[in-house]
Amino acid sequence: MTTDYWCEWAWLGGMVPMEGVVVRVDGDRIRSMETGVLAPPSRARRLPGFTIPGMANAHSHAFHRALRGRTHFGRGTFWTWRQSMYEAAAALTPELYCDLATAVYAEMALAGITTVGEFHYLHDGANEMGDALVEAARRAGVRLTLLDTCYLHGGIGADRSGVQARFGDASVDAWLNRASMRPDEPNLRVGAAIHSVRAVSPLEATRVANWAADRGAPLHAHVSEQRAENEACLEAFGRTPTQVLADAGAVTKRFTAVHATHLTDGDIGLLGDAEAHACFCPTTERDLADGIGPARALDAGGVRLCVGSDSHAVIDLFEEARAIELDERLATGQRGGHDPSMLLRAATRHGTASLGWPDAGALDPGQRADLVTVSLDSVRMAGIPPEDLVPGVVFAATAADVSGVIVDGRPVVVKGKHQTVPDVAGALRASISALGDFDLLPIPSEQ
Ligand SMILES: [Zn+2]
Repeated sequence: MTTDYWCEWAWLGGMVPMEGVVVRVDGDRIRSMETGVLAPPSRARRLPGFTIPGMANAHSHAFHRALRGRTHFGRGTFWTWRQSMYEAAAALTPELYCDLATAVYAEMALAGITTVGEFHYLHDGANEMGDALVEAARRAGVRLTLLDTCYLHGGIGADRSGVQARFGDASVDAWLNRASMRPDEPNLRVGAAIHSVRAVSPLEATRVANWAADRGAPLHAHVSEQRAENEACLEAFGRTPTQVLADAGAVTKRFTAVHATHLTDGDIGLLGDAEAHACFCPTTERDLADGIGPARALDAGGVRLCVGSDSHAVIDLFEEARAIELDERLATGQRGGHDPSMLLRAATRHGTASLGWPDAGALDPGQRADLVTVSLDSVRMAGIPPEDLVPGVVFAATAADVSGVIVDGRPVVVKGKHQTVPDVAGALRASISALGDFDLLPIPSEQ
């Protein structure tokens, strides 16, 4: 079945939006496009506003959404926040996780996210938690890359303890067996993740990298988010985390370095030579005082930047994308390192590519029909001249300005309303309160 959508304005790449674009959708694909159609054809469904491709959230831990508002204050560090996060994880069962993740992915859909990369490490000895995430994505109408995460140690040379012990795999062989049990589906891609060089030894990382290579699957890893990780890695292996992962065969075109905050020039060279991705999560990195990654150097070196909302302190990929540029301005005292169309590509095409969907993330014939429409009627977007819509949407739009979302040709959000999760706020409230009063560790406010 074909459906024509008339976009008042659309982003087809570059800095100049196109006026009057008819996108013909056949099933789940864009069949053809026509530009310069200034009056909507009678048969077409109208998409008033500015339509961009579906956005990709390349780094998500869905359960972190339960911590929103509870961990952002005081003087705690990444490491104290991490303890609180494990307390939340301890309260989860597959049923509770399905409800929570459905609500979180629905919040993402409302924000214009059509592809989610879930960095999933809550295994509970089996695949039930992963099954819950797959079902949640289906209910919320988003495409999922389940990055099955190998998480074997509590630190370099240390055992997992407490909640970590419940959620990791017993060995790399156990991870390989479990991860291999899940096949790809039309809207599900199974990828791999190495939690970090803290949690997976170099030899184990090689096994995971080989598994991903055999399947042609995306491979992600947390890389150099914290200086302490770099120091421990240098002390243990005499190499940086990026070098350890490169030596393990992990750093290829299918690789995404998540955070990539504290890199050496050599690290940037390794990632660039491989044409790897780097996933920045600026709102989380700010919240956890991680630092500001070298986005400009990575981009110049050939690394493809993408973005993720990670801990879901907020879910707004416009904010993540503009932060790549704006945070770097603060760090360097210079403006203009990234043009707005590149930042929009980070939130769309680069993200889908990092998650193993090269046929999504652009408005082009043959691509999956993911269309996200930003309303131009809000107080944020009103008055922006049409020729400036690309910088306008990158630097001023918020998730709340998304009025319509189509995923694989199916309308998932219409006039700001999710079509299968009618009350997303209510679903979030209910699923978070169902976790009970999980103990948040006291975060020191004075020290
Ligand atoms: Zn993460």
